[in-house]
Amino acid sequence: MRFLPVFLDLKAGPIVLVGDGDLAQAKLRVLIAAGARVRWYATDKSIAPADRLAALGAEAASQIEILSGDPLTADLQGAIAVLSAGAGELGPAVSAWARAQGIPVNVMDDLAHSTFISPAIVDRGDVVVAIGTSGTSPVVARRLREKIEAMLPARIGDLAGFIGRWRKDFHARIGDFSLRRRFWERVIDGPIGELVLAGKTREAEAALKAIDNPSVFAEAGGKGFVTLVGAGPGDPDLLTIKALRALQDADVVYYDELVSPEILDRIRRDAPRIPVGRRVGKPGIGQDAINRLLVEAAQSGKRTVRLKGGDPFVFGRGGEEIEALRDAGIAYAVVPGITAGIGAAAASEVPLTFRGEALRITLLTAHKARDAEVVDWSALTDQKMTVVVYMGMTAAPAIRAGLLAAGRPPQTPVGVFARVTRPDAKSVVGTLDQLPALAAQVDRGPAILIIGDVVAHSAPWRDAGLQQLVSTLQMAAE
Ligand code: SAH
Repeated sequence: MRFLPVFLDLKAGPIVLVGDGDLAQAKLRVLIAAGARVRWYATDKSIAPADRLAALGAEAASQIEILSGDPLTADLQGAIAVLSAGAGELGPAVSAWARAQGIPVNVMDDLAHSTFISPAIVDRGDVVVAIGTSGTSPVVARRLREKIEAMLPARIGDLAGFIGRWRKDFHARIGDFSLRRRFWERVIDGPIGELVLAGKTREAEAALKAIDNPSVFAEAGGKGFVTLVGAGPGDPDLLTIKALRALQDADVVYYDELVSPEILDRIRRDAPRIPVGRRVGKPGIGQDAINRLLVEAAQSGKRTVRLKGGDPFVFGRGGEEIEALRDAGIAYAVVPGITAGIGAAAASEVPLTFRGEALRITLLTAHKARDAEVVDWSALTDQKMTVVVYMGMTAAPAIRAGLLAAGRPPQTPVGVFARVTRPDAKSVVGTLDQLPALAAQVDRGPAILIIGDVVAHSAPWRDAGLQQLVSTLQMAAE
């Protein structure tokens, strides 16, 4: 290691910037965003300082002082660093001047004249990750930064700040150093940390205050935490970053039958995964039993994940589960997933809304013919409404009948989209009149029905048109 990473306190003094053009502007942007005060020796004298400040906007301008003197005779007293960016020939001389005054200096892309280099940065408020390659390869640093960006929770800085606010308090209450460290590890790794990362700082604060014996807490840990995670329709690449993180952090995962094996593969290897949904031919263990399992797992201190197909709050009974968790005083968070209807639309190019053609969307469930009977079809007559039906395969005849009776034209385009985003996906399209026959063509679920004019824009519809054209041509040729 040739360069020692350090963090400069921007409150300690201004940064002096010498240079111009895009390179200097790029540095300015970073410095302004970081909250630095900048003394800028802009080398292109053809632009008036007032114009420069106006272009930067009032807020940035308040942090910048534009100086017109010679940077090589400038008094650098009190400056915390000197940067030369886009200063051309002037760079080495700026470096010599800064070094003569004992101020750290960086000349962009010129290691020989720099006493420090600037890292690539991942900025999460109080938490900052700096990545350096000893000046060898900015591209490697950038790639690494992208990886770290994706990995770090957005609110990790909030978590650091949260602990910063409470550290003194607990310092006084826990005498022993190593116990104190264990205490904060438990806080960070447990439900309180999860709450902060979920943006529920007030609740996290309440939970922290409720710890009446911090030493006991440090030894034993507190109650666990439940995360309801939407797994999306099947393709593991459609998991959110948060979902993936929850799967990687889980102590135990309770999952539905709809969750694909590829997604189960993303769960931390040594976390037990327990199926709780309906399986082919067998009923599930029931919602009350699931609620009880979640509560018990959390009470035993486990980070519990409840993994559901699609989104937890779209026909997923997530609402009932969080009610049960609230009743039991268990902390929880909900991570949304891509619901099957949205996944089907994207995969098959069904624009669910379309200017002038489809102005609203209804998500509907019609599990059994009985459900279909209680649907108020008259609310679905609007031809500019796209209707997305979940669990609608067996009720397809009843759905057709209901919509036709409500006045939807029999030639309304419809599609049946099975196992969307999975390797064995299948879709068939046709008209409302043909709906039951179309559903029968899809041998296995799960499947989504989409009903509305927009289905005519979809990829399967275009393909079907092509096929029709081909067979007409073939007939003509014969
Ligand atoms: N919470 C889930 C829905 C659960 S209800 C979500 O947001 O997607 C179960 C119904 O969802 C199935 O009957 C089917 O209509 C639909 N579904 C779930 N996954 C699907 C998939 N991969 N392809 C097509 N439909 C799916």
